[in-house]
Amino acid sequence: MRLITSIADMRAFLLQARAAGRSVGLVPTMGSLHEGHLSLVRQARRQCDAVVVSIFVNPAQFGPSEDLARYPRNLDRDLETLRPFRVDAVFAPDTAEMYPTIFETYVVPGEAAKPFEGASRPGHFRGVATVVLKLFNIIRPDIAYFGQKDFQQAHVIRRLIEDLNLETRLVICPIIREPDGLAKSSRNAYLSADERQTATVLNRSLRRAEELVHSGKSDSAVLLEEMRGVIASEPRAQLEYVAIVDPIELESVERVTAGCVALVAARIGSTRLIDNLVLGPPGVSPEMLIQLALTARPVATAQARIPGMETEILRLRIESCRDCAAVSSIRLPPSEFLSKYVKRDYPDLGTVRVAIIGRDAPIHAVNFLYHSPDSSNRFSAALFELVGVKNFNEFRRGFVLTDALRCHCTAPHVPDKALAYCVKHLREELKLFPNLETLIVLGDDAYLQFQKLILGRSEEQFTPFGQLLAEKGWEQEKVLVPSPLDREMRIFYCYHPTYGYTRSPSLVSHLA
Ligand code: AMP
Repeated sequence: MRLITSIADMRAFLLQARAAGRSVGLVPTMGSLHEGHLSLVRQARRQCDAVVVSIFVNPAQFGPSEDLARYPRNLDRDLETLRPFRVDAVFAPDTAEMYPTIFETYVVPGEAAKPFEGASRPGHFRGVATVVLKLFNIIRPDIAYFGQKDFQQAHVIRRLIEDLNLETRLVICPIIREPDGLAKSSRNAYLSADERQTATVLNRSLRRAEELVHSGKSDSAVLLEEMRGVIASEPRAQLEYVAIVDPIELESVERVTAGCVALVAARIGSTRLIDNLVLGPPGVSPEMLIQLALTARPVATAQARIPGMETEILRLRIESCRDCAAVSSIRLPPSEFLSKYVKRDYPDLGTVRVAIIGRDAPIHAVNFLYHSPDSSNRFSAALFELVGVKNFNEFRRGFVLTDALRCHCTAPHVPDKALAYCVKHLREELKLFPNLETLIVLGDDAYLQFQKLILGRSEEQFTPFGQLLAEKGWEQEKVLVPSPLDREMRIFYCYHPTYGYTRSPSLVSHLA
C-alpha cells in the first residue's frame, strides 16, 4: 500500500496501473475510518483491479461555524486500518496541495444541492462537488464509491457525473450501522455516553416510517408526523428536518412509492447527525433498496401512481393471509397478478377507470388474459367486444380484469366464509387503482358475490340476475361501494361473455 501525498506522484502511480490495463476504483473519504468507509473499500476491492482511498478533510465543504478544526484526524491509525484491505494507494494530500494560494474555480451544483443539507449547510455541496471533481481528474477512476449514508451527497455526485459527462461510474453502498441502529459516522466520536444513547433516535424515527409503510400507510404527512413524534420523544434531540422524497429529483412526495427515501437530520447536543432509509417492500435487501431508489423513474406524469410497493405489500398480505390458508385447494392468482402483470401492464395505475369483475375463462392459467395477452380466445374476443377495444394493448390502457374468487377459484365448493376473505382481498386490490369509477360485473356467480359480499345486500334486497338482465341484456346502477373504496361508482351487470348462450350488447356508448 503506497502512501501518496502529491498530485504528481498520484498521477504517475496510476499511469503504471493504466498501462497494465488495470481498472481503478476510488473511495473518497475524510479519514477517521470506520466500518462504513471499509464497506466501500471492500466493494471497490471486489470490482476493481487497483483501489485508491483518498483521505482529505476538505475545508471547502465546511461552513465558517462548522467543525473543520476539531474534525477527527489520525492518518497513522487510518493507514493501519486499511492495511489488511490490499488497498493499492492511499492519497492523502495536504490542504496546500489541493487548494494552492491561487485557487478560484469551484463547481456549483444546481437544484440537487439546494434543499436539506444544502439549506442547513450553505456552500457545503459546492465544496463537495469541487473536491470530488478534482479527485476524479487526478485519479480518473473507472468507478467511485460513495455511501448511501450521505444520500443527498450521492445524488449531487450523480448529477455532477451526468451533467459534466464524466466517465466515472458511481456505486452507492448501503449504510453500515452500529448494532443498535445508529449509522456509523466519524462525528459519532463527538457524542457523550448519554448523547450516544439518544442518537439512536434518528434511526428509530426512520424505522417507524418503514413500519407504517409496511402496514400499508403511504401518506407522507402521516409518516412525517410519526417521525417527528419519535424525535420529539427525546428531549436531548433537536430536529433539523425530516422529509420523504422521490429518489430521482429529491422532491418531497405526498404518497410513498417503492424507492422513496426518508431523510432525517437532528442535533444531539452540539453534534449534527444525518440518516436516511430507502422505503420499499418488506424483506428486500439494502442493496436492492438502493437499486430501487436509483432506478425508480417517474412514469407518465408527476402524479402517476406507480405499481410497486403497494402491490408488493398487498401480495405479501394475501399470501400470508391465515384465513385463506385455512381453506384447502387454494390457488393464488393475485400473487402472479400483483407481482408480475400489474407492474408490467400498468406503468401508471391512475389510467385505469374500469374494473371488470368476473371469472376469466377458460380457467386454465395459461389462458389467463394477462398470462397470454396476445392469444385471442373466446373469452378475450367477447370481452374486448363488450367494452369496445381492439386488443389487449388498448384494453390495459383503461381496464383491469379481476375476479371475485381471487384466492379459492379451484375449490369445487367455495364456502361463504372463504368467499368473504376473497372479497376482502378483491376490495384491497381494487383500491390500488385510484381513479376507478366503473365496475363491470360479469355473469351470475360474480353478480351474487358482488351483491352479497361487496355491497352487503341480502337476497331479498336485489333482483335475481336473469330477471334483471331480461329486458336489455344488461343493467346498471350507481351505488356507494363501501370501504376501502368508499365512493359512488357506476356498476354494469352483464352476462358472462363465454358462459351460457346469451351475450350482453356492447357497452361502448355507455362507457364513454
Ligand atoms: P466521510 O469520510 O464522512 O466523507 O465519508 C466518506 C464516504 O463514506 C462517503 O461516501 C460516505 O457516504 C461514506 N460513509 C460514511 N459513513 C458511512 C456508513 N455508516 N455506511 C456507509 N457509508 C458511509
